[in-house]
Amino acid sequence: PNSNVAFIGLGQMGTRMVNNLIKHGKQPRVYDVVPSAVSSIKGAIPCSSAEEAVDGANIIITMLPNGQIVKDTVIGQKGILKKIGKNSLLLDSSTTGPQVARELYQAAKESSVRFLDAPVSGGVVGAQAGTLCFMVGGDEGDCKEVEPVLLHMGAKVLFCGDSGAGQITKLCNNLILGVTMIGTAEAMNLGVKLGLDPKLLSDVVNISTGRSWSSDTYNPVPGVMENVPSAKNYDGGFSVELIAKDLGLAGDAALSISAPVPLAAMSHQLFRTMITYGLGKKDFSVIYKFLEGKAVD
Ligand code: NAD
Repeated sequence: PNSNVAFIGLGQMGTRMVNNLIKHGKQPRVYDVVPSAVSSIKGAIPCSSAEEAVDGANIIITMLPNGQIVKDTVIGQKGILKKIGKNSLLLDSSTTGPQVARELYQAAKESSVRFLDAPVSGGVVGAQAGTLCFMVGGDEGDCKEVEPVLLHMGAKVLFCGDSGAGQITKLCNNLILGVTMIGTAEAMNLGVKLGLDPKLLSDVVNISTGRSWSSDTYNPVPGVMENVPSAKNYDGGFSVELIAKDLGLAGDAALSISAPVPLAAMSHQLFRTMITYGLGKKDFSVIYKFLEGKAVD
């Protein structure tokens, strides 16, 4: 079916996702508060406000830093919800937690707009390659309907349940991600300081029981892998601020049902400490440098 896509939020993830939509023949209407992020995308329709972007679109995707910004964009004073055509699909791929998702689902419903929470995993590497995994919450029929468009940006679309379930799935995944990244960096730092070659140590871990995405796809030690943030002074990628946000959201969700999440809490505090050291905008694998005790530019 004909779909006019609008895409709001052209950061580390959004830019790459939009480029994959364009590769698959779409001409999305795009907007970001940073004008250069809008103008640097070739093949899209540049817009100068979120309202302009959603004009005439029947699939609207947001990929913004956090829940507050998503709420401001959708239901704030100049919120786009009022401008979105009836029966359109609004998808939020940002990681915001289940509460924001449910709030937006309700608000959308009252405006006869269909809303899905559709956060992603795969990082900038997956966004670039078009291999993201979409974790979707909301109405299953809506998920099925939009799946072909999501598959332009990802390799998998998993329906997780009612509104908020995609966000809960994502928080659980990122809890593991934060903890394994710290564990990987901690072990790599130990090995290197004890005299091991980091490439050899990584090769062994990656065929052994310590393997994870943090070790085999996104290794935190400079020189072990190419095309990852650790190879580029930890610029780009998934910021310390964002993983700290996600671990905080996981903690909030856990508190609401009194589930213990000791490692999420410790990881959250470690990443928050790194923010106070000026590392908030760096990729989260910079935890390796933090533990190593050396300054990062
Ligand atoms: P980012 O900070 O690189 O990008 C966010 C973009 O939103 C920026 O370009 C910013 O200018 C723009 N923006 C901010 N406020 C805006 C507004 N009011 N209107 C329009 N644009 C606005 O973040 P990112 O790394 O692309 O992540 C986006 C979301 O996806 C976050 O919720 C993050 O947790 C999640 N996520 C990130 C990754 C990753 O690896 N980077 C992976 C999965 C999920």
